[in-house]
Amino acid sequence: MEKGKSKEIFAQAQSSIPGGVNSPVRAFKAVGGDPIFMESAAGAYMKDIDGNQYIDLINSWGPMILGHGNELIAEAVKQAVSRSLSFGTPTSAEVEMAELICKMVPSIEQVRMVNSGTEATMSAIRVARGYTKRDKIIKFEGCYHGHGDSFLIAAGSGAATMGEPNSPGVTKGTAQDTLTAPYNDLDKLKEIVAANKDQVAAIILEPVAGNMGCVTPVEGYLEGMRQLCDQEGIVLIFDEVMTGFRLAPGGAQELYGVMPDMTTLGKIIGGGMPVGAYGGKKEIMQMVSPSGPVYQAGTLSGNPVAMAAGLEMLKYLDSHRELYASLESTQQQIVKGMQETLDELGLNYTMNAVGSMYSMFFTDQKVVDFETAKSSDLDKFGAYFNEMLNNGVYLAPSQFETLFLSTAIGQKEVEQILSAHKKALQTINS
Ligand SMILES: *Cc1c(COP(=O)(O)O)cnc(C)c1O
Repeated sequence: MEKGKSKEIFAQAQSSIPGGVNSPVRAFKAVGGDPIFMESAAGAYMKDIDGNQYIDLINSWGPMILGHGNELIAEAVKQAVSRSLSFGTPTSAEVEMAELICKMVPSIEQVRMVNSGTEATMSAIRVARGYTKRDKIIKFEGCYHGHGDSFLIAAGSGAATMGEPNSPGVTKGTAQDTLTAPYNDLDKLKEIVAANKDQVAAIILEPVAGNMGCVTPVEGYLEGMRQLCDQEGIVLIFDEVMTGFRLAPGGAQELYGVMPDMTTLGKIIGGGMPVGAYGGKKEIMQMVSPSGPVYQAGTLSGNPVAMAAGLEMLKYLDSHRELYASLESTQQQIVKGMQETLDELGLNYTMNAVGSMYSMFFTDQKVVDFETAKSSDLDKFGAYFNEMLNNGVYLAPSQFETLFLSTAIGQKEVEQILSAHKKALQTINS
């Protein structure tokens, strides 16, 4: 496989961009090798600047659930561009967007648009703190909520991959208000809440974790947390930046039937444009400026071009609800096929999956939290990743990331993925 142009531009990139990339998860530090620079994409495939083609299993880390180059979205964006790139005034698309989000996401009564998932989570905890008049928040080890200071503690994903779970630059004061708990352990969570009685403003979590690889909530976990928050007057925040509009039209809360007080959204909500949102109960959202005292603003929030892309995406998902079952069946076919080869070769692995998200961990332990995720053989994952790449399948370049399917992945791609998987395992095993 020819990688000369990517190699060259990456070398050049490193002099003007820190590490040569604009987000650390794009670097190949965890798997070895240099990042691949993409040129174009269509449907299930991405093409790099050296002309290689890959089946895309990251789909821009989630947003491209319909695959690349969806014509409805592209057309909506072109129309919006012809009207203006930005006004800095309200537009009716924002109202339509808010109404559609409230309709699709069961627990959201009011919503505020922002420009990224990071902004959504930062704002949500500010509102929760303002609402409860308490300072502390609880997050879970291995859960990622964007790069806000309060969350860069046991943050999984890029942070875990880079070996900097506690980033320099986060003050002790900030770190001290963030308590961390192991995922999927309700008893431990109750202990932490009891030890900080009447001080915890919010508990924030990924209802299905995707930033330590895919980790699903154990039976009764979300329900137990809901009950605990009700008893203690704590705002329960589901960070559905990844799972929102992906696991169901209404996200993980719809799939598991547990309603948070607040929800943060991102990724799919922008249809590929930079969009985030946070919303929840009206009583809580009324705290947000200008209706309440908690300040939060944005020059480009609700940007008309971004709204056009996001609206078209959400409208499509809302009116094609059958696609969720179809995505899941593609996932099941891939996972089953992968397991057959892993079993044939007698390899240790754990496979976690839900809907269109799945992860293979090179470990013999059940992966239920960050500790168990970290028991994976990372060297083996790195070798597997690079072999998959050589066989034309683009995976997330870290063991601690989930994979995302798109509706563009059909029978032909499933077979290609499974055949690449078999070849990759045979190579790294020989
Ligand atoms: C990606 C992600 C974020 C951060 O969103 P950005 O748009 O990258 O700022 C927050 N929370 C979760 C669960 C995510 O997966």
